[in-house]
Amino acid sequence: MKSPKPKIAIFDLTDCEGCELQMLNLKGRLLKLAELVDIPIWRLAKSPAEFGPFDISFIEGTPMSKDDIAVAKKVRERSKKVVALGACAHLGGVPAELDETKRDKFMKEVYGGNYKTSSKAAKPLSAYIHVDYFIHGCPIDLDEAERVIVDLLMDKNPVGPSTPVCLECKEKENPCVLLKGEPCQGPITEGGCKAVCPSNGLRCWGCQGHTKNANVGAMEKSLERIGYKDQAENIMGAFTKERGEKK
Ligand code: SF4
Ligand code: SF4
Ligand code: SF4
Repeated sequence: MKSPKPKIAIFDLTDCEGCELQMLNLKGRLLKLAELVDIPIWRLAKSPAEFGPFDISFIEGTPMSKDDIAVAKKVRERSKKVVALGACAHLGGVPAELDETKRDKFMKEVYGGNYKTSSKAAKPLSAYIHVDYFIHGCPIDLDEAERVIVDLLMDKNPVGPSTPVCLECKEKENPCVLLKGEPCQGPITEGGCKAVCPSNGLRCWGCQGHTKNANVGAMEKSLERIGYKDQAENIMGAFTKERGEKK
């Protein structure tokens, strides 16, 4: 008897949906994938059919509300494997850039004094549930996404590049942003994004997260040396710092 197709689900919490849009950009590759798997839940692409059990669930976004956290826990219970999709789920993402000590001040400025929020500080998905694998980036890189999905469907453990963005940047012979005296997180950031930012004249801001054994102290000293002492903490803290605690 033919074995049933693996069931894949895609969920989003608090995010901009950019990573899901990237998934749609897989186009032909996604259509081929759709022949191999069932996708009962993907809010962005189709109406929900059932809530599990799932073989693989992808979760995009940061859990920032009680509902987000409840969905994440329910997905975990109903899934064999959970994959964090993109920097929001992996690291807390853009919302984690907020200096939490200034949250009340910003809430008042944006929404006025009477508004009460129930949102929580942005933390990685792994602060709330066990995450099996991560697809890095803001937004995700399509080749990395495809590689992880194919590996998972073949029951292999996806393994990331574990070399820094600098390696891919040097391969492209880009002029070095850091050597021009501007901050760049490339030396401590995991590659796999083809150094897309420095290849387009921008600095790397670390959206893929730290490489294993990243020398954060040396990076901070380098930033201080080129006059970014005040920014070092912010730049370092935004995407690359682990903020989560297991709950
Ligand atoms: S990681 Fe970036 S692109 Fe993806 S959902 Fe978050 S903010 Fe959007
Ligand atoms: S521009 Fe950034 S990523 Fe590229 S080599 Fe320099 S420090 Fe590394
Ligand atoms: S160069 Fe840096 S910021 Fe840009 S996509 Fe790659 S890891 Fe993210």
